[in-house]
Amino acid sequence: MRIEDIRQRLRALGANPRHEQRVLRLWSQALPQDAGRREIAHFLPAPLVAALPVLGAELAALAVLRSEHVGEDGSARLLVALGDGQTVESVLLPRDGLCVSTQVGCAVGCVFCMTGLGGLVRQVGSAEIVAQVALARTRRVVKKVVFMGMGEPAHNLDNVLEAIDLLGTEGNIGHKNLVFSTVGDPRVFDALPQGRVKPALALSLHTTRAELRERLLPRAPRMSPEELVEAGERYARATGYPIQYQWTLLEGINDGDDEIEGIVRLLHGRYAILNMIPYNTVDELPFRRPAWEQAADIARRLHRRGILTKLRQSAGQDVDGGCGQLRARAAKPVRR
Ligand code: SF4
Repeated sequence: MRIEDIRQRLRALGANPRHEQRVLRLWSQALPQDAGRREIAHFLPAPLVAALPVLGAELAALAVLRSEHVGEDGSARLLVALGDGQTVESVLLPRDGLCVSTQVGCAVGCVFCMTGLGGLVRQVGSAEIVAQVALARTRRVVKKVVFMGMGEPAHNLDNVLEAIDLLGTEGNIGHKNLVFSTVGDPRVFDALPQGRVKPALALSLHTTRAELRERLLPRAPRMSPEELVEAGERYARATGYPIQYQWTLLEGINDGDDEIEGIVRLLHGRYAILNMIPYNTVDELPFRRPAWEQAADIARRLHRRGILTKLRQSAGQDVDGGCGQLRARAAKPVRR
């Protein structure tokens, strides 16, 4: 379901734009059902008031909590069932953040990612994206939403932009606290500057070597690291928010001196933050996580060379964290 479908339902029940705003605000912010109930009864048209319980139940059914896996770092992985029984992951992050999924599966096929292994199953509708936020808000405060869960947001651009627009307006999330994450797609750089809500941008770089990037991200649009950084820099300057470059650190693959030199060459003087996230090793894939001390040394060396680098843990590692792992384990017996 798309947000536009909900708007059409509301209009058919006599809602004007202000009525729509009111209902979408109640839903996306997960305000208690009785919040302003008397006011709503006076403010909204009678057919709409009568339909609200049914509509509310339908919206709640868009994203239903299947299971919750709490990590030691304050994160919690939510396995979320969509209306047709497909499942996606949302992750409650420390400091009021939430990571949402934008597709069931993913077509990019990053070779180190469990979600990429299974290919694309289906798109997640804009209403289902917002429903993940509404569900999370029944459990915790959410002030930041990152589109870094399952899926490539650029491959579901209309739905993701519609969700961003609602979350940045009625959903009460600051625009720079909405983080669109992509492997890089020219359509993103055309579309994001046009929106009334301009999210922050995270670009998955992972390597500075074009030929290695093609091997690691086999079905990502063909943008070289240089083209990606050029396009990112234009967006950063236009919005005033730095680009967050994402780098999944894979032992023996992209943790060498050549990459450090490449990063300095590409990012020095750019309006950018480099987030280095040591890979979360899984049995099913042949990649390994470098030692934390080695990762910390890389981050220190980059810092000394003038690159603002943050070394991060991927949230919820102790609960089968990592893109698509929870869903993958839910779909088959756990091997220990
Ligand atoms: Fe898709 Fe992201 Fe996994 Fe790559 S890392 S396959 S873009 S979900």
